[in-house]
Amino acid sequence: MGSGRIGKDVGGWTLDMSEKEPSLIRAIYERKEIRLRNELEGLYRFADWLPIRRMLKNPSVPICYRSEGLANDLGLKKLYIIFNGWWPEKGAAMSTGTFKECEAYSVCARLPENFDGSLVVASAGNTARAFVKVCSDNDISLLLFVPHDNLDALWFDTPVASCVKLICVAPGGDYYDSILMSTAAIAASKRFIPEGGAKNIARRDGMGTTLLSAAAEIGNIPDVYFQAVGSGTGAIAAWEAAMRLESDGRWGPNNMRLILSQNAPFIPMVESLAADSRVFIVVDDDTARRQISQVTAKVLTNRNPPWAIAGGLYDAVRTTAGTILGVSNDEAGQAASRFQRLEGVSISPAAAVAVSSLIQAVQRGIVTESQTIALNITGGGIDRLKQNHPLYKLEPSVILPPNSDARDIKDAVTSLFV
Ligand SMILES: *Cc1c(COP(=O)(O)O)cnc(C)c1O
Repeated sequence: MGSGRIGKDVGGWTLDMSEKEPSLIRAIYERKEIRLRNELEGLYRFADWLPIRRMLKNPSVPICYRSEGLANDLGLKKLYIIFNGWWPEKGAAMSTGTFKECEAYSVCARLPENFDGSLVVASAGNTARAFVKVCSDNDISLLLFVPHDNLDALWFDTPVASCVKLICVAPGGDYYDSILMSTAAIAASKRFIPEGGAKNIARRDGMGTTLLSAAAEIGNIPDVYFQAVGSGTGAIAAWEAAMRLESDGRWGPNNMRLILSQNAPFIPMVESLAADSRVFIVVDDDTARRQISQVTAKVLTNRNPPWAIAGGLYDAVRTTAGTILGVSNDEAGQAASRFQRLEGVSISPAAAVAVSSLIQAVQRGIVTESQTIALNITGGGIDRLKQNHPLYKLEPSVILPPNSDARDIKDAVTSLFV
């Protein structure tokens, strides 16, 4: 943490250590040199650097391969694609379609075997799908808060087990209302454990497996890492993983720059960085809502990312001499078609923003042809997945109006677990 204080892992679920200046806690692992344990399944091949107590069933893992199609088109000699999603021919088996599975398989594996509480997650879509899959497959109690307006995002390739309970904010309510509701639920009973977001080391180190998978393929730490960011958790995780790889000693020096991207017109990180401001620059509420409504890649519209906190996104981008680029809907759409034509797989709107930022970086000379570049495709293959599988839905157990008072929320959530 920022203070340099080192704590002991007492087997709890520590999210912060009550420092005067808040900072992200980092994990220190016993093994400085990571073993690539190919005998283990999915992302648990990187278990040496995951804060886990057990291994769950059916884990997926980000795959990485060297690009030919897009690389040649852009004149890049060493472009590596980290693919998260559904692409069975390449061994990519994230059946919820995005890299949120990396965090779910790590966070849930940090819970002890005899966990008798419920994990609480508020999400607008991708995170919800990932946690539902992992908890349902592994009989872990999950209490999920999702806006009713986002129910379409809750599709699954297998039926959802009864250990997963969904509470919806009534139509009209949004992601922020569901966060507020989940906070009230957590306060209502000790059985409810907050998932924790970027503060949870299990979430970040799970996402860090994207970079570990790239390093395992490349043989060293890449020079540049491209990713589209919403909360920025994935990018902080990649930065932390690169530092760990450097101190391992076998992966070369760490000169890795973070080149991140957001979907215009909602680009608060681009603006905060341009102003070199550790204080996160937010537009007023009406403007934010209007901008967010215009953005295609909605997963990139987090209004409260871990920007200013020590060890957060501002530090990650500044320390790596990185940058954050804005990409319009049109540019992202063109990048998606180009990627599909050249690499042979469809990608999600957020991943298209990252591809477009790479194209922009090449055009502007921000990267050069001989650099080793890792491009994180954070989601893909979803259309094929949906075409080729019967899909199952998750019905809400309870629907609560936005602005429900704490009492009603408490009654609703406790009645689900008697
Ligand atoms: C969540 C998400 C992102 C952004 O990741 P953060 O860690 O929140 O910055 C990018 N792409 C996809 C597909 C996502 O689901």
